Amino acid sequence: MIYFIQTSSISISKSDCKLFNIIIFYDLTTKDLTVDYNETTLSNKNEHALLYSKKKFTSWDECEIFLNEWAKRQGFRIIKDRVTRDDGIIRRRTYICSHSRVYESNSTKDTSTKKIGCPFLVNVSCPKSKNDENSVFINKINYQHNHPLSTSSIIFEESKKFTPSMIDDIKFMTTSCKFGVTAQRKFLEGKYPSHPIYSKDLYATIQSFRPTSNTGQKVKNQASISHQSATNQVADW
Ligand SMILES: [Zn+2]
Repeated sequence: MIYFIQTSSISISKSDCKLFNIIIFYDLTTKDLTVDYNETTLSNKNEHALLYSKKKFTSWDECEIFLNEWAKRQGFRIIKDRVTRDDGIIRRRTYICSHSRVYESNSTKDTSTKKIGCPFLVNVSCPKSKNDENSVFINKINYQHNHPLSTSSIIFEESKKFTPSMIDDIKFMTTSCKFGVTAQRKFLEGKYPSHPIYSKDLYATIQSFRPTSNTGQKVKNQASISHQSATNQVADW
């Protein structure tokens, strides 16, 4: 198992911004330590794509869309964690990696939703004082992950995710037409020929629209776990 730590810092001037990226790889088996360091100079037009402490957003929505996209480019998913509200206004929120927290799971197959206590986090705040426009600021960032990052698996998950109109179709076919998996698959393949359709995802999505399903709690749990990736854009954000 290779444990790695990534840390970055950024300096911004009027003409460009420099990104310093340090990655430390530690192989737990061989005890080999490798340090990779690079310095990237980016023109200011790339600044919008970078995450750094004190980065400012006009709203929580803008911040969350940014963090979501930024994390996907790094090869992981961000989810919401603790929140502090004051008079209904969100003042502080922590965002964590989807592999954060630790929980017991019987499923060893679905690694995309495994909770393994990953320490990555971003603390974001909307200060009450001297902040008339309710701007949102990145505070602390812990770039550390305890698992490899994989942009290819994120791209794969994105590609197989059902679009909102496909989800509407599945909901209609399940609740109104009572169609099964096979009929729904044929319909979707005909209507969306360029979209990959995986039986597991389709089955899970169908199950999610069958709240009165009497196939047992176990099946429903599995469905909600494997359906999570298909509905992340709705459920997590
Ligand atoms: Zn992580």
